[in-house]
Formats: sequence, structure tokens, C-alpha cells
Amino acid sequence: QLEEYSYKDGLTGIANRRLFDDFYQREWLNAIRTQKPLSLILIDLDYFKQYNDLNGHVIGDTCLRQIAKSLESCCTRPRDLVARFGGEEFAWILPETNEAAAAVMADRIMEAVRAARLPHKASAVSELVTLSMGVKTIIPSDLDNRMQFLDQVDKNLYVAKRQGRNRYCAA
Ligand code: GH3
Ligand code: MG
Ligand code: MG
Repeated sequence: QLEEYSYKDGLTGIANRRLFDDFYQREWLNAIRTQKPLSLILIDLDYFKQYNDLNGHVIGDTCLRQIAKSLESCCTRPRDLVARFGGEEFAWILPETNEAAAAVMADRIMEAVRAARLPHKASAVSELVTLSMGVKTIIPSDLDNRMQFLDQVDKNLYVAKRQGRNRYCAA
């Protein structure tokens, strides 16, 4: 039970950052060994500071729980992992997943959050809660650095924000 608590995010009940880190390290090594593609998706809610400012933190927390539930509903393969990465950020690890399959997953995530229809009256891009994502795929070798790869996925997330939010970038 202790182990379960130490890997669970207290607010949303999904995997926490610690489990993400362990899982990512393991799947990175697997991908080097098997030379199969590994994909990552980083997710950040759009204008969530404004959401809290307008609705208050308690409703903000409820929103995060609902988003976590929507994300979990997209989980199709047992080895995929979705985790709460930080405040209003989430992350997916998709082992044995190439660019095309990662894009399908990103579309599915967008659709699931759209279908949840969570109102966001303070958003500049939609009447509903939306998110932006960075998506990237790698077949790593010993020479690659997994923190550097994570940084590249984060750069794609930043590009998605800059391009107008409510979208993903998989450049
Ligand atoms: P952007 O569209 O650029 O992502 O803007 P943003 O407002 O979402 O980004 P920013 O990083 O400035 O703000 C994130 C906000 O998320 C800050 C904080 O109010 C909120 N937040 C982070 N963690 C929690 C949490 O656990 N509960 C609640 N209710 N809010 C949180
Ligand atoms: Mg953020
Ligand atoms: Mg944000």
C-alpha cells in the first residue's frame, strides 16, 4: 500500500512524477536495447492560471481531476503510462510507438478533452478547457541523453503554445 501511495498523485489519483521518472528510465533503456521507437507527449493546460483566478483553486483542482480522467480514458495499451508531471502538466510515455501512432494518440487526447466539455470563461482560445502538447519520437542509442530528449519534447510544447495553443506540435 505504501508503494502504491508513493507512486500515485494525491490530487488526481493517476501516476505521479516519481513513477514517470522510473518508467521513463526503464523504457528508455528498453528502446536502446530493442531499437524500437519510443514516443513522449507533454501536455500543458491552456490559460490555467486565468481559470484559477476566475473560478478559484478548489474548482481548479476539480478540473485537473476531470482532465486526468479524460486522459486515462485514452489509455489503450497496458505499457502506456500517463502521469501528472507537475502542476497543470501531464505526460505520456508510449513505448514501441512511432511518429504516426503518436500523432493518432495526440488526436485522441485532443478529442477526449474536447468531449469532456469543461467550460473555461477566461480562455483566449476557446469557451472550453483546452490543452497544448509537445510530441516526439526517438529510437535512442547509447549516445543519446534522455533528459535532452525530454527537453526537445518540451520545446515542441512551447512551439504549440506560441502557434496559438489548443494544438500539438510534433516537429
Ligand atoms: P499557458 O496557456 O501559457 O500554459 O498559461 P497558464 O496560465 O496555464 O500557465 P502558467 O504556467 O502561467 O500557470 C499555470 C497555473 O496552473 C498556475 C497555477 O495557478 C495552476 N496550477 C498549478 N498547479 C495547480 C494545482 O494543483 N491546482 C490548481 N487549482 N491549480 C494549479
Ligand atoms: Mg504550465
Ligand atoms: Mg498552462
